Amino acid sequence: MLIYMNLTPVVLYDYVHELVRMGYPGAEITLEPSLDVETVITVSAHKEDNVLVFAGEIRQEEKTTDLSYLYNLPDENEQNEMHKAARIFIFKLLHKHLGKRVNTYGILTGVRPVKLVHRFLDKGYLPDAIKEILKEEYLLQEDKAELLTEVACNNRSYLLNKDEAHKLVSIYIGIPFCPSRCYYCSFPGAVLRSYEDEIPPFLKALTFEIEAISAFLNRKQVKVQTIYIGGGTPTVLSEKDTEYLFRLIKDNFISVCTSEITVEAGRPDTLTYSKLKILKEAGVNRVCINPQSMHDATLRAIGRNHDVKGVVEAFEWARKAGIENINMDIIVGLPGEGLKENAHTAERILLLQPENVTVHTLAVKRGAKMAEKEGKTVSKNQIEKVQKGVKYFSDVLNEAGYIPYYLYRQKYMQASMENTGFSKNDRFCLYNIQMIEERQTIIGLGGGAASKFVNSEDWTLSSLYNPKNPEVYCETVYNLVNRKVDKLKCLN
Ligand code: SF4
Repeated sequence: MLIYMNLTPVVLYDYVHELVRMGYPGAEITLEPSLDVETVITVSAHKEDNVLVFAGEIRQEEKTTDLSYLYNLPDENEQNEMHKAARIFIFKLLHKHLGKRVNTYGILTGVRPVKLVHRFLDKGYLPDAIKEILKEEYLLQEDKAELLTEVACNNRSYLLNKDEAHKLVSIYIGIPFCPSRCYYCSFPGAVLRSYEDEIPPFLKALTFEIEAISAFLNRKQVKVQTIYIGGGTPTVLSEKDTEYLFRLIKDNFISVCTSEITVEAGRPDTLTYSKLKILKEAGVNRVCINPQSMHDATLRAIGRNHDVKGVVEAFEWARKAGIENINMDIIVGLPGEGLKENAHTAERILLLQPENVTVHTLAVKRGAKMAEKEGKTVSKNQIEKVQKGVKYFSDVLNEAGYIPYYLYRQKYMQASMENTGFSKNDRFCLYNIQMIEERQTIIGLGGGAASKFVNSEDWTLSSLYNPKNPEVYCETVYNLVNRKVDKLKCLN
């Protein structure tokens, strides 16, 4: 479908296009009139004294829906209010025209909706009042308003205060290689072809980056609270290289302030008992062993090179090695799966008793093999299946004593849902909280790693991204380190 958006002023596009895309998944949007257009959305906005006046309509085949709306401006930042008011208007117009809410999160389309709840908590609002604001002003569905508030209250005590944020950082290390590409994944890191040719130069560049950043942190007396080794698949490293990497980490980052080291051991096909023992002996106290589903047919359909038996074996090795905090990722909405398959996956996972379970909703991004095959449009039936599946996991995990402690959303997420980390009480992953709530500087090292530099005066951020391609990373690492050190001056 081609949609023509006729907007006055045109800047409204920046505020409303995401909600329009949610209302019409897979549609193309143009700002130029054309004969091929099937739907026309017209919106105008202007200011009269302290009021923003909106008027608009949607014309689609024989059906036309119109709406007008007045938004009283408070005294705060006018630009932000225009943004919010335009979203409220388009949300209501789409709702009236389509007969359904286009986003269960109302006008919130960002990746980290819990941050809004923390901002209200900072101002002294009580949780019940925040829930009402989310429903009334931001138009969230009741269950989503409750979920966001619950997550924020659960993780609030782990956020840093302004003073701590100057002195305590977390480190992310990206190992951008995988043994093969899962069909739903768009991560453009490398599929490892030749260990001898690709890993040594990468480790050399990573060593340089780790030592340079560590020297800076030591000079500034900044300590590392958590370390997360992700990727890709960090466990593609041989045992010898794994030992080397962890010696490097120990010499450069670990102190009495370091309370958590996580390794993504996501792909059971890269794990052995002795590798897990090496991780444990190196101080790793949390690993992620990610089945995604406990059905062999699904695992084959999504290009995972392992089966359910391999997941269970890897989990038991990790326990035997002494790792006390294990996370398992699962995905709702995988091809061929519905409530029956979800229930089976939940049952198998709960038998293993991991401390953390992260429930993802399938988000097939551009560049993933599945995107070519399945396209972007999701059927009504699939949306219902995903909504039921996510609710099922939430209920079953709550009943088993897990609580939601971090949450984020992604583009292209099916059924307008979320990814939620559930945990047994007091086993929360600190890194995940810091990374999602953005109250701590995260220094990303290695391939594809993102760094977030937090200004704790107002909790604003700036970012820097390492190249995902390992060759480009190796070529640019010297320059990257200089830019990173420059940005890290925000810590003082
Ligand atoms: S999902 Fe993980 S293991 Fe699979 S290709 Fe993507 S990064 Fe690699």
